[in-house]
Amino acid sequence: MSIATINSFERVVSQINLACERLGVADIYRLRLAKCERELRVDFPVKMDDRTARIFTGFRIQHSDIRGPAKGGIRYHPDVTLDETRALAARMTLKTAVVNIPYGGAKGAVICDPGLMSQDELERLTRRYTAEISILIGPESDIPAPDMGTNPQVMAWIMDTYSMTKGYSVPAVVTGKPIEIGGSKGRFEATGRGCLISAGLAAKQRGLSLGGSTVAVQGFGNVGSAAAKLLAREDCKIIAVSDISGGFYNANGLDIEGLMKHSKETGGVAGFRGGDSITNAELLTLPCDILVPAAMENQITAANASQVKAKIVVEGANGPTTPEASRILHDDGVFVVPDILANTGGVIVSYFEWVQNIESFFWEEEEINIKLQKIMTNAFNEVLEIGRAEKTDMRTAAYMVAVKRVVAALSVRGIYP
Ligand code: NAD
Repeated sequence: MSIATINSFERVVSQINLACERLGVADIYRLRLAKCERELRVDFPVKMDDRTARIFTGFRIQHSDIRGPAKGGIRYHPDVTLDETRALAARMTLKTAVVNIPYGGAKGAVICDPGLMSQDELERLTRRYTAEISILIGPESDIPAPDMGTNPQVMAWIMDTYSMTKGYSVPAVVTGKPIEIGGSKGRFEATGRGCLISAGLAAKQRGLSLGGSTVAVQGFGNVGSAAAKLLAREDCKIIAVSDISGGFYNANGLDIEGLMKHSKETGGVAGFRGGDSITNAELLTLPCDILVPAAMENQITAANASQVKAKIVVEGANGPTTPEASRILHDDGVFVVPDILANTGGVIVSYFEWVQNIESFFWEEEEINIKLQKIMTNAFNEVLEIGRAEKTDMRTAAYMVAVKRVVAALSVRGIYP
């Protein structure tokens, strides 16, 4: 099968297989990683505001819980599929392993368009979906978090619904919650902060100074807006930003705080007056130092990879670069910080949130950011070292670090019974 025709999960599996081959891993481990441990599909009714009811389809997939409870976000998107959810779950196993936090990997999704639903409808959908997947989730088994289309409010509804069925409050069942109910300081911006940390480390490798670098960011949601804001605070010039509603370019740097305010008030970047309009496709090939794709999968492909002019790509999104494009970027000397490393800031601070919930003892943001920086820097350096030793790109090296760690756990646990 050509790599262009294989699906999202198969793409992750092919990358895992490559790492297994290089590591000389026994077949049984390769085969285990090529499957998800548990898959739940739920079809459930939700009462809509117009008094009709609609059936929604959702998933919760646990790829692996071999290194600890399964962990991963919940996506609300009209085009999300079972296959994509599997791929995202597998990536979570690899992310938690590459940064060495004691979790496995999971992902959930509901096929819906949150932009077209009222808050009341979203609340009813979330509460019913939580009830449907409650046979899997729990603070010791599987801990959801936000992803595309979900946010701290959705996490609050999940926490409340789960707690109602238990008869007591269980904050540790979900991360990315509002601070008022046990959320962690620094969690909201954590994935963006992780992109900033990755960009800084990559810049050092490329002999660039972060301050003064030019940056283009695709996607202006949780990840993209936080990354843009934090990079701008480090004196990077954010020359372009886009979201689903459109994009803007300003060679002198966009006013990111102003853009965030505009986006919050109007629901997107469209209509912003501080730059010239550009398309999402144009943004990806702009001359700049750092490109941060922080929206959807499959944005940098064989069709546009050779036109990417950035020196560094920091993958804030999951799977923004296809395998063919990855090879082209590597051959062109672009330094790519792969998704399973670059966007781990969220799951790392989610881990901190879960630990704080279990201890009922909360940390200051400064402590959280220092610990995040340390974990990500160690992981980055480990991946870099393997990449150098194996003469391979950062993505293959990151998969090798992650797979090695998961296989070590599988091997020492053995096969039950
Ligand atoms: P979000 O829903 O907050 O924002 C998504 C952004 O992408 C929005 O600005 C949206 O307008 C834009 N977008 C959607 N479709 C687009 C398109 N076709 N072209 C251009 N822009 C488009 O989502 P998020 O949480 O910021 O997640 C973004 C990516 O980062 C996803 O791939 C997600 O899996 C990944 N991620 C998120 C987290 C997290 O903590 N939220 C952690 C790790 C990885």
